[in-house]
Amino acid sequence: MRIVMKFGGEALRDEERVLYTANVVKKFKKEETIVVVSAMSGITDKLYDLARNVINMNESEIRREVEKIKRRHEIVINKCVHEKYKEECKNVLNNLSEKLERTLLGISYVGELTPRSLDLVLSFGERLIAPIFSYVLKSIGINSLHLTGYEAGIVTDSNFGRANPIWEKTKVLVRERVEKYLKDRIPVITGYIAADEKGRITTLGRGGSDYTATIIGSCLDADEIWLFKDVKGLMTADPKIIPEAKIIRKISYIEAMELAYFGAKILHPKALEPAMEKNIPVRIKPLFNPEDEGTLITAECMKSKDIVKAIAVKKNVASLNIFGAGMVGLPGIAARIFNALAKNNINILMISQGSSETNISLVVEREDVDRAIEAIKEEFKNENVIKNIDCNRNVAILAVVGAGMKGTKGVAARVFSAVAKAGVNILMISQGSSEVNISFVVDEKDSDIALRALHKEFISQED
Ligand code: ASP
Ligand code: MG
Repeated sequence: MRIVMKFGGEALRDEERVLYTANVVKKFKKEETIVVVSAMSGITDKLYDLARNVINMNESEIRREVEKIKRRHEIVINKCVHEKYKEECKNVLNNLSEKLERTLLGISYVGELTPRSLDLVLSFGERLIAPIFSYVLKSIGINSLHLTGYEAGIVTDSNFGRANPIWEKTKVLVRERVEKYLKDRIPVITGYIAADEKGRITTLGRGGSDYTATIIGSCLDADEIWLFKDVKGLMTADPKIIPEAKIIRKISYIEAMELAYFGAKILHPKALEPAMEKNIPVRIKPLFNPEDEGTLITAECMKSKDIVKAIAVKKNVASLNIFGAGMVGLPGIAARIFNALAKNNINILMISQGSSETNISLVVEREDVDRAIEAIKEEFKNENVIKNIDCNRNVAILAVVGAGMKGTKGVAARVFSAVAKAGVNILMISQGSSEVNISFVVDEKDSDIALRALHKEFISQED
C-alpha cells in the first residue's frame, strides 16, 4: 500500500509534538509512505510579518528575528535528533538560517518586497522543518530523506503567492524524482512550496501543504492520502458555535470542496482536485487519536437520508451591489466585471444577478472590497453603464451542503423558512447548479443565529 501522510503546524508545534508526530509515522506507515510537512506552527505568519516589516528594520533587528526562528528549530534538534545526526542536521539549519538572513537583508537594502521575494521568504518555514523532521525519523529508526517541493518535482506557473502546478511536467518529474526512494525510505517533502519553470520558488497559497500532499499523491497514484489535523474530522458545523456538531464520517469530494471553499478552514480549497481526478480516497485524520478513522472523502455521493451534511459559515466577507439601467441587455458586462477583478487577483466568492438585469451582486473577501470597487470603477470609467456600487462590509455567507439535496424538492423552502423563523434577514441567495449547495448572505452579526437554526432543522433533529 502506498500512502501520503501530511502534517501541519499543529503537529509540529514544539519538540514534544514533533516527537509524537514522528511516532505516528512509525506506527501507521505502510510499505510505501511519503510524508509532507508544513512549517512549525506560527512560523509562516512570523515570516510573513518579517517580510512585510523588514524594510523598516535595521540589521541587528533582522539578525535577532532570524535568530529566534533558528532557536525554535534548534530546540527540536537538541531534544529529538540522535547524537549521530545532530551535527549534520545543525549544518542544514545553519545554512538555511544564513540564507534567510541574507534574503531579508537583501529585501531591506532594496527597500522593496515583490511577490516573488515574499514567496522566497515564506518558503523557509517548510524548508527548515522538513530536514529536521527527516532526521527525527532517522533517530527513531526510520530510513528517511528530505526533499523540497521543487526537488520532488512540483513545477508551477509564476503566479507567486498562489501558484498552480503545471501538470504535464509535474506528473513526470514527481514520478522520476520520488518513486525511486519508496522501496526503502520515507521521503519528507516540504508542503506549500514549489518552483516555477525558471526554478524560482513559488508558494501554493496559505494552507497549501494539503495541496502538496494531494499533488504528490496523485502523481504517484497513492492508495490513500491522510491529512492529519488538530480536529476530529470534518464536522457538520463549527463546534465552537454548535457544540452538538457531529463528525461527518463519509463525504464526497464535491461536498467537501464546497465546505472548504465556504469557510471550513480545515482544508485548502484546491486540495481535493488532484485526488478527485485520480479517485484517491482522502482521510482527515485526528492527530491526537490517530487510530480513529476520521472523515473519509471519496467519490461516492451516497444519497443518504440526511439531505444536508454540513453547514459552513464564511465570515469576513463583503457584498457589492452593482446598479445601472445601462446594464440591461448589454452583453458582456458581467464578464468585464469578473475580468477586472481577476486581473487584480480578487477572488469572487458568490455571484447573483437579478432577472431585470439592472443589478449584479457579488461577495468578495472583506480585505479585497476596496480594491474591488476601484477595479470596477476603473473598468467602466468613461461609460454610463454603472450608476452606483453599494457595499455592505459586514456580511457572512452560509453554505448549506449535501449531495442529498439534489433532486429533493422543498429543501430551499425548508432552509429559508428556518432562517426566517429565527428572525434573520437574507440579503442574497445563490444555488450552484450542482445542487449540492445552497448559499446565502446575511449580516455577519446574524450568522450564528442562522447557523443554529439550520443545524437544528436539518442535523441535530435526526438523532
Ligand atoms: N505553512 C503554510 C501556511 O501556514 C502552509 C500550510 O500550513 O499548509 O500557510
Ligand atoms: Mg502553516
